[in-house]
Amino acid sequence: MPIYEYSCRTCGYRFEKVQKSGTEHETTCPNCDSAEVQKELSSFSTGASSSSACFSGG
Ligand SMILES: [Zn+2]
Repeated sequence: MPIYEYSCRTCGYRFEKVQKSGTEHETTCPNCDSAEVQKELSSFSTGASSSSACFSGG
């Protein structure tokens, strides 16, 4: 399941939310209950960040 990051534009609170497949409903800030939340891009591999650690297990 994809996890999206949200940041509240009212209080600045950042939180993550798991979005079900094809299900997108209103997201509100769990801190101030405001609907002014900004969906942030997940921290996927978009930049040039080299890592030595291997993720694949054996
Ligand atoms: Zn908030």
